Amino acid sequence: MSKVIPVTSPLLPPLEEFIPYLEQMWESRRLTNGGPFHEQLEQALAEYLGVDYLCLFANGTLALVTALQALRITGEVITTPYSFVATAHSLLWNDLAPVFVDIDPVTCNLDPASIEKAITPKTTAILPVHCYGTPCDVEKIQAIADNYGLKVIYDAAHTFGVRQNGTSILRHGDLSILSFHATKVFNTFEGGAIVCPDAKTKKRIDYLKNFGFADEVTVVAPGINGKMSEINAAFGLLQLKHIDRALGMRQRIDQRYREAIGQIPGLELFTLPQGHEANYSYFPILVTERYPLSRDQVYELMRAHDILARRYFYPLICEFPMYRGLPSADLSKLPVAKRISSQILCLPIYPDLPDEVVDTICTLLRQGAGQ
Ligand SMILES: *Cc1c(COP(=O)(O)O)cnc(C)c1O
Repeated sequence: MSKVIPVTSPLLPPLEEFIPYLEQMWESRRLTNGGPFHEQLEQALAEYLGVDYLCLFANGTLALVTALQALRITGEVITTPYSFVATAHSLLWNDLAPVFVDIDPVTCNLDPASIEKAITPKTTAILPVHCYGTPCDVEKIQAIADNYGLKVIYDAAHTFGVRQNGTSILRHGDLSILSFHATKVFNTFEGGAIVCPDAKTKKRIDYLKNFGFADEVTVVAPGINGKMSEINAAFGLLQLKHIDRALGMRQRIDQRYREAIGQIPGLELFTLPQGHEANYSYFPILVTERYPLSRDQVYELMRAHDILARRYFYPLICEFPMYRGLPSADLSKLPVAKRISSQILCLPIYPDLPDEVVDTICTLLRQGAGQ
């Protein structure tokens, strides 16, 4: 194989389909600040995802930072060490103290029992991640939040289109955050959104993402510039026309991997919960101690064949210098996260990944197992 195979590759509809959007933009001269495409994408996404209100953002990280502002979160926030760094960074940007707790070995999401043990008088919120699009234990987390009077903000960056028993996973908690970065299932080059339950909250978030302007002469908060531009929104509208086909292609690849890897001793797959409509955004496997090669040896083996599998998430967030001094960053208190982080490997999965590449990856894994 001569071409390098990335872990993900963006869904890019045919270029000629994008031209009419550009022509309309040039005609109207509306480039940003809530133009027609921004308006249309907010409505189209709310409908597609099955949520009530949604505020578009320039990226998912600004959406996270703004969500914490919108709810006026203070003090300590309980979160997961097993995520992309932006999850915890959004807390530091708000001068909040992250409190890391361990994850569940089946879902890779925050373990509710550990959340409860970490609550102190300073705790005001929980910031869980639906890792790989697998839903958190939303009922248990909500029950804890209700008992202790905490807010719940879901980092739902991996969760585009995921439903459980027919209901969007984005309908849980006080707010949910999406990322539309180029590496995600649905992308607007860069982009993101906050999903919120009512018009009042949406209005406040819309102020916050536009410097705090409530009208021409009124500034109600030290808001940020988090607006999505028209060109990103237009691309999102085009992309939405192709998303169901793209999800179908991802599902096929997921199936092909499962059939080939399921029987290889020492490798473990994650199974999806009952009643779960997945988005097949990642294909994580665990390289356990029963496999002849270590995770890093498998990672290097793939690289030697120009396949860029990724160690999502290694290192853990709490191992980075700005977090490792925190009491909750002590790895001896995070045994599950530590083990999974050392065994995880995410294999390439994206709509036009050729079957032959999937088969090559599976052959390498079989050979690694001595088969
Ligand atoms: C991608 C991602 C983000 C950040 O989103 P951006 O749009 O890249 O800013 C945050 N959290 C998680 C879990 C992510 O995967």
